[in-house]
Amino acid sequence: MIKKVSHIGIAVKDLDKAIEFYKKIGLNVESTEVVESQKVKVAFIPVGDVRIELLAATSDDSPIAKYIEKKGEGIQHLALEVDNVEESIKEAISKDIRMIDKVPREGAHNAKIAFAHPKSTNGLLLEYCEEHH
Ligand code: ZN
Repeated sequence: MIKKVSHIGIAVKDLDKAIEFYKKIGLNVESTEVVESQKVKVAFIPVGDVRIELLAATSDDSPIAKYIEKKGEGIQHLALEVDNVEESIKEAISKDIRMIDKVPREGAHNAKIAFAHPKSTNGLLLEYCEEHH
């Protein structure tokens, strides 16, 4: 079951520079985290009960480095919070939605996440995110 928008992932080249912009408009970083498996450094910026997640590559072969190379900086994915990511994957597959992740992977904040393929979602990289608060 989908509960709400969890976060919006934004790919940036320079994390510190991007953080400065959000400070300028009155938003503050809650925390930062390196997600080794994704080769990214993430900064979490709460906006009400939704977060902006700034994503910067920690290496040239990071998915975020490749994304920026192809499409430039900007919104990279939208994450929906679900109560059970395995169930969401099963349900999506049963409805012929192509999943990039057929088993959940580990995201930031110890969340279990799975991405649906943009080919199945009208061009959106959609993340299902099971958070552990
Ligand atoms: Zn995400």
